[in-house]
Amino acid sequence: MAQTLPCPQCKRPVGLAGTSRPATFPFCSGRCRTLDLGAWADGRHVIAGKTLFPEPDDGDDADR
Ligand SMILES: [Zn+2]
Repeated sequence: MAQTLPCPQCKRPVGLAGTSRPATFPFCSGRCRTLDLGAWADGRHVIAGKTLFPEPDDGDDADR
């Protein structure tokens, strides 16, 4: 069964696990990721020098 989270940018459901999880997770698409990063670049989010979102690592037990 597909678990989803709303995309932080556009609120579309984004698949969480396995093949339904996009490379752009937690965003539904590169466009949304770019938009969110743009928000950071605009200074609407201010944490200089930090990773914006940690890369999804392999710490979960998804099927790979
Ligand atoms: Zn989105």
